[in-house]
Formats: sequence, C-alpha cells, structure tokens
Amino acid sequence: MKRTPVVGVLALQGDFAEHAALLRSLDAAPREVRTAAQLAGADALIIPGGESTTMATLMDIFDLRGPITDFARSGRPLWGTCAGMILLADRLVEPAPEPLRLMDILVHRNAFGRQVDSFETDIDFAGIDGGPLHAVFIRAPWVAEVGPQVEVLAALDNGAVVAVRQANLLATAFHPELTPDPRAHAYFLEMARVAAA
Ligand code: GLN
Repeated sequence: MKRTPVVGVLALQGDFAEHAALLRSLDAAPREVRTAAQLAGADALIIPGGESTTMATLMDIFDLRGPITDFARSGRPLWGTCAGMILLADRLVEPAPEPLRLMDILVHRNAFGRQVDSFETDIDFAGIDGGPLHAVFIRAPWVAEVGPQVEVLAALDNGAVVAVRQANLLATAFHPELTPDPRAHAYFLEMARVAAA
C-alpha cells in the first residue's frame, strides 16, 4: 500500500499558502513547516517564492538552516521555487543572502532586470508531458552555471536556465503555484512518493 506523502511547505514568508492549495488539489497532504519538529514529520519540502534575504534571516531566527540541510542530505525531496531556488544554490552572483549551498548551481537574483522583471511565457519542461507549461516569472532569478551532476529541465529561448534537478533536489525560477496547471506539483509529488516508498 502506498501512503500519501506528507509534503512540507516552508511557511516563514512568501507564497506558501498557494503551494499548499495546489497540493491539496492533487489530494496530497501539505503541512506548513516553521520548526525543526514539523520538518522531521515531512517526506518532502517546498521552499516557496518570496524574498530570499528575508526568508534566509527567518530561517536563521527559526534555527532551520541545519535541519533543512540534514533533510536534503537524507535524500528527501526538496523543491525551491524562485526565492527558494536562490536559497538552494551553492553560490550566488550577489553577495546576499547566504544560501543553503545544497545544489551545484550559480544563481543570479533578479536576473531579468527591472524593466521586464515580471513576465509570463510557455516553456518545455523535461519530464513533464502534455505540452508546454505556462510559467510566471516575478523578479525571477536564473541559473548562470550548473555543475556536472545537475540536469537542466527547462530553459528559455534566450538560453536562460530556469529549471534544474540534482538527484532529490529540484529548483524552478518561476511560480507553478500561481497557475492552475498542477503538473509541476504532480512531478514533485512523484519524487516524494518514490522517496517515501
Ligand atoms: N527577487 C526575489 C529574491 O531575490 C525572488 C522573487 C520571487 O520569489 N518571486 O528573493
């Protein structure tokens, strides 16, 4: 019998409620995570979009940096969207915030610039069938360099890398929780199911 994986959503700042709503629409079991004890009860974790320096500060205040790092190293799936992608990175172009250094990627914050810092476009996402995903970018980062163990799942026409995976770690520069299309969350839920089995 497969049990429904418990998907934690880091609920310190940002659009965690939208992630939880999308997970509920897939009959998943989302849990808001603000403490190490709540994290320990999760099979997988989403770090939402928001403001990465604020989220990093709150992560330190709530003593979650070590527990999230251990969670990722235990092989449980972790997905960062937008600000979450910034926090999963090994290194940033910018001096702040201090990222978690979990994925072998260099990330450039606010990479699309001020004039066009929010836009929507359709992207092909490797591993997601059924046509392109509609992707919402809000003051989004992009991935400027990937290490040898990182798989590029989506890039824009101009070459900007906007979705990557490294084993149990997934990062997207856009916000799948802001569109009604559940396929990106279904993709992550499958990672969670495999890990929880
Ligand atoms: N620009 C934000 C940051 O650097 C991320 C934006 C987002 O999560 N939508 O934290």
